[in-house]
Amino acid sequence: MRSWSIPLGRLFGIEIRVHLTFFFLLVFVWSAEAATQNATAALRGLALVGIVFGSVVLHELGHALVARGSGVPAKGIILLPIGGITILDEAHAAPDPVNAWKRDIRIAAAGPVVNLVLAGFSALILASTMPNVSLMAKPLLYSGALLRSLVWANLYLGLFNLLPAYPMDGGRVLRALFSRRDDMVRATHRAVRIGHVFSILMIMVGMLISSRAETRWDGYWLMMIGFFLFAGAQLEERSTVFHSVLQSVRLEEVMLTDFATLSPADTLEDALEKAVHSLQDDFPVVRGSDMVGVISRQRILDALRADGNGYVQAVMNKIFDVSVRHDSLSSAFRKLTARNSSIIPVVEDQRLVGIVTLQNLMHSMALLAESRKLQRDEAES
Ligand SMILES: [Zn+2]
Repeated sequence: MRSWSIPLGRLFGIEIRVHLTFFFLLVFVWSAEAATQNATAALRGLALVGIVFGSVVLHELGHALVARGSGVPAKGIILLPIGGITILDEAHAAPDPVNAWKRDIRIAAAGPVVNLVLAGFSALILASTMPNVSLMAKPLLYSGALLRSLVWANLYLGLFNLLPAYPMDGGRVLRALFSRRDDMVRATHRAVRIGHVFSILMIMVGMLISSRAETRWDGYWLMMIGFFLFAGAQLEERSTVFHSVLQSVRLEEVMLTDFATLSPADTLEDALEKAVHSLQDDFPVVRGSDMVGVISRQRILDALRADGNGYVQAVMNKIFDVSVRHDSLSSAFRKLTARNSSIIPVVEDQRLVGIVTLQNLMHSMALLAESRKLQRDEAES
């Protein structure tokens, strides 16, 4: 997602990015209006896009600010043609297991509430300042009636996002309600299944109405949104499983207990020789029963290339984090990324009992996710 978006700036300290596909929408509107050969119309068309764009930003800011107020930092907002996404930094959320579901409902509802309030306000302003302009005139969204469009764009955004179709906001509220009794993985799974029903319905209705000329484009839009929703639900479920695995798995379940170690007195050539005969990319360096450092195969190679043969002692990394058996995988991941290292020794009473490396984490994550899925399917059948 991130790589296809460009930064626009910051609002309230939250980074706003635009996904490149958003520009398709601009081109689409511009060319539709430019067909009328009228510069003012084309400008008004862009103003209409600006209204939709601004409403989406305010919607996402609603999520982001309420999240931040509830102790979940927001990393940023990405704007897409069919809406926006607020990326929350759940790894750094303040822990609140008891009322987490209430917090999640507040965060999810904040976006649609912003739009509904905006729609209400602009409808009031319109009714009081321009009583001769009809709110119900067709087309509802029209570049020739910008204030009316502001009302309808926000009403549409608010209501559409409240559909109980995960990963839409309504679906998130539903998931939060499920999570009162179920764990997050099961709650997400249930919300995703309801979301899938909605997205398939949207695709089917879209197919039906796209066969008629006057509703062809509505049909295409509906099919596209249904497709995005279906794929989005799938992705979100996977990431939820991933996070819950990270949190619930103890290092002793995944650490390597059969591994090669190096001694600080080994020469780099000896070390390379050992590395060749092992599958490991990273090695703990041990003197007697003490952990004294860590070193990677790459570091050994680099040092050999740069300075010729020497001792492990001189090139090993002496600053490293250690973990204990009962630490969670997510804490291990944090330590790995914080130090930008790829190995964590697991110690018990100062004694090395295992290692966790990035390489072995990637392997075990896939296996664990699979085995949890099997357990879950079993529990359901
Ligand atoms: Zn939203």
